Amino acid sequence: DRLIAADVREGEEPVDRAIRPKRLADYIGQPRVREQLEIFIGAARGRGESLDHTLVFGPPGLGKTTLANIIAEEMGVGLKSTSGPVLERAGDLAAMLTNLEPGDVLFIDEIHRLSAVVEEILYPAMEDFQLDIVIGEGPAARSIKLDLPPFTLVGATTRAGLLTSPLRDRFGIVQRLEFYAIEELTEIVSRSARLMGVVADPEGALEVAKRSRGTPRIANRLLRRVRDYAEVRGNGHVDAAIADRALDMLHVDQHGLDHMDRRLLLAMIEKFDGGPVGVDSLAAAIGEERDTIEDVIEPYLIQQGLMMRTARGRVVTRQAWQHFGLAPAAGAED
Ligand code: ADP
Repeated sequence: DRLIAADVREGEEPVDRAIRPKRLADYIGQPRVREQLEIFIGAARGRGESLDHTLVFGPPGLGKTTLANIIAEEMGVGLKSTSGPVLERAGDLAAMLTNLEPGDVLFIDEIHRLSAVVEEILYPAMEDFQLDIVIGEGPAARSIKLDLPPFTLVGATTRAGLLTSPLRDRFGIVQRLEFYAIEELTEIVSRSARLMGVVADPEGALEVAKRSRGTPRIANRLLRRVRDYAEVRGNGHVDAAIADRALDMLHVDQHGLDHMDRRLLLAMIEKFDGGPVGVDSLAAAIGEERDTIEDVIEPYLIQQGLMMRTARGRVVTRQAWQHFGLAPAAGAED
């Protein structure tokens, strides 16, 4: 439904694997993250140690999983992946940990969703490479301690604020991913087009980039749909005119806003006179989860200056009223 949703991954596996950057040098944008990781990885390799535990946070689709894979590749080690909600019991994590080869990267996506019991297992594992687990129940219960090989935990989360502080404190490296600039997304689209064997001229790539909500996953997904359009309605080449028509057909507007973004902003304008409004009232008004609003929808709208978080609640800015061709309410924020 949500074509440009950044948090939906299914159905894109094979082509996605082909275009996912494998080395740091192919990771476009995020210059600060790239520079720091280059140094930390180089240093760890030089000392023959595993990289410190690394936390990567930022909205969906910005390249957290990609970065975990790159870290393993650059360190020359294996990668095992799992996610917070999948690790239901302590034993699930213990099984993953005891399966690691020395130096491996253990990637835990949505790490903020680990249960408290699983998190307890993680602390000594991260700190001392020790597994401390109770097996059995009642009088037969026994506590066992095992040495684990050194490993690097790479945790990903949409918001660092969702992590408990004891967990956050155990990461030696913390990296925040930002929305990508148009020029960076244009480069990503051009690179993906090349790898997919699609002819895209610079203006065509730019058009796709402009409408991708600052997010590589969306840029790649839109590129695939624009390619379809170009093949059926054009000669297969992605130029600005074809991209523009395809994206209009897909109802992605000039800012890259999709219908969820527009619904959120319009609800704030029409039902709450532009705010301030609490996130729970907003969630009820548009029938979305509060988490989806906070993690997926609003970060981009805030970054674009279309809405703000204030102490009294969310407010839309003048720019949002103008986006819909409406006259801002008296006292609307800039
Ligand atoms: P996340 O884990 O943050 O949700 P992913 O790492 O799965 O996001 O990234 C989504 C897709 O976007 C990847 O498949 C990859 O092809 C592309 N991508 C992400 N970051 C970059 C980047 N810096 N350069 C090029 N492509 C990227």
